[in-house]
Amino acid sequence: MTKTNDLAGYRVVAVHAHPDDEAISTGGALADLARRGADVLVVTCTLGEEGEVIGERYQQLVADDADQLGGYRIHELAESLRILGVRGEFLGGAGCYRDSGMAGSPASRNPRAFVNCGEGGVDKLAAILDTERPHLVMTYDPHGGYGHPDHIRAHEIAHAAAERVGVPRLVWAARLRSELEANLPAHAPEGWTMPAPGELDAVDETETWVELDAETFAVKVAAMRAHATQVIVDDEEAGVYALSNLVTQVVTRREHYRSGAGVPLVPGAGLLDGIDA
Ligand SMILES: [Zn+2]
Repeated sequence: MTKTNDLAGYRVVAVHAHPDDEAISTGGALADLARRGADVLVVTCTLGEEGEVIGERYQQLVADDADQLGGYRIHELAESLRILGVRGEFLGGAGCYRDSGMAGSPASRNPRAFVNCGEGGVDKLAAILDTERPHLVMTYDPHGGYGHPDHIRAHEIAHAAAERVGVPRLVWAARLRSELEANLPAHAPEGWTMPAPGELDAVDETETWVELDAETFAVKVAAMRAHATQVIVDDEEAGVYALSNLVTQVVTRREHYRSGAGVPLVPGAGLLDGIDA
């Protein structure tokens, strides 16, 4: 990565639900902030134990079989973070909170499920923010992007902890619908399907975006590929990929962000513009 130092002295914490979210929803911004000298920490709240697995090789690791997927995903996350050039830690330590699965699933009733973390989750994140003193916290919108209960909980604890500690700015990652749709390929790769209208989570307006140059785009896609049990990339250059449902998605050249709390984003400007180091 081409390194500059114009963001030296800035500290950023991204709060994510599962290993792979850091790359898929914020990988471009994290890589960009880090290469410009900001200190970036990714806090991951669960090990993603309830995920499905792409491919045969690690299929038996899933929760209903060996239940070893969470441990395996630590290794995928470590590789993604290395590629992005950022630090990482798990909320409460690896294995503290378990993936809650989809809404209403038996997994969500596990006492260790992240959705049941209560104030304890806020306390643990506030302790991290207290140590890190970030200028910026990044997370999801109130719908958790695509609505996974762990994403919604991550949003909630990020807001509560950031407010308690007094973080200057909190932003939500988003995809811009018009851009997403314009960049989808004309046809799905073989064996995949095209998304139904409105199936992919996206919004109609955002305040700002991070423009991914070719290098940053490649780093983001490489970080996504590090999560090989979760993400399959068909065309690296065009950023065409799918999750285990094999619905065609695309990495866009702009990663969008919305103001969540604190000092609002400056429209069209950088994520740290308007915040003093
Ligand atoms: Zn997730």
